[in-house]
Amino acid sequence: MAARILDGKALAAQVRAAVKQEVAALSQRGIRPGLAVVLAGDNPASRVYVRNKVRACEETGVRSELYELPAAVSEEALLDRVLALNDDADVHGILVQLPLPKHINASKVLETVSPAKDIDGFHAANLGALVAGVPHMVPCTPAGVMRLLDHAGVQLAGARAVVIGRSNIVGKPLALLLLARDATVTVCHSKSRDLQDIARSADVLVAAVGRAKLVTGAMVKPGACVIDVGVNRLPDGSLCGDVDFAAASAVAAWITPVPGGVGPMTIAMLLENCVRAARTQI
Ligand code: NAP
Repeated sequence: MAARILDGKALAAQVRAAVKQEVAALSQRGIRPGLAVVLAGDNPASRVYVRNKVRACEETGVRSELYELPAAVSEEALLDRVLALNDDADVHGILVQLPLPKHINASKVLETVSPAKDIDGFHAANLGALVAGVPHMVPCTPAGVMRLLDHAGVQLAGARAVVIGRSNIVGKPLALLLLARDATVTVCHSKSRDLQDIARSADVLVAAVGRAKLVTGAMVKPGACVIDVGVNRLPDGSLCGDVDFAAASAVAAWITPVPGGVGPMTIAMLLENCVRAARTQI
């Protein structure tokens, strides 16, 4: 039987509608949640991501400011911009779009964002809070994946979860979130041996790698829930995830499409984090 589609686009629309209501309620009290986006350089993919985030803000009533800095911007100038935004009471959330130009120390920039305004959840204080089991700002993509799993009613306690990819922004925080929900979690990476066997043991299989169709049908346990975080551009210009969708959906019980799965949820969680940051700061 073909897997059921976990429709991130539809769920994200629900989340955005709830955010819109909350923003309207806050506005009646004279508070307008505000997001500042810092974009350095001219990476075309980053421009698209930023445009989508700003558009989502406009649609929900979150005030947004975009700071576009040239690719040659100095680290000092970028840090000064972030420090000024930290001090701006009208800005509740700060997002520094990655990747940054190579001459800039990205960790230093991310650590300069006030943890209270770090709506991406990348600051060490927020990642540490996640490790300690007292999450504050949870990174948006992992938060979106958890929301999708809950929406599908996937039982996590005691389930075997395998996360392929160990980045600080997706794989690691997601593994912690799954662990906090009592899943038995295995994290795989480029040096993992027996990837196929490990993946095939998963009740919940998440691919966050950035390699088109890395996950084959043979790597999916019958009845598993497969979450595809990957976004890859094929030579014909189309988008493709890390999972061979056709093969995996013949085996899995649930699967996210690309596009229309995790991507829209990432933006929805960003909006939620921004409103949460505004509420916390007032
Ligand atoms: P990343 O920082 O490049 O991390 C990729 C991870 O995959 C690394 O841990 C790497 O292992 C592992 N890996 C690479 N090749 C592998 C292989 N052959 N087998 C097993 N593991 C392998 O990437 P990321 O930032 O986490 O993003 C991952 C993907 O998700 C990308 O396609 C990105 O575009 C996408 N993404 C989507 C969203 C969304 O909203 N939909 C958000 C964020 C990211 P090592 O650690 O050993 O190098």
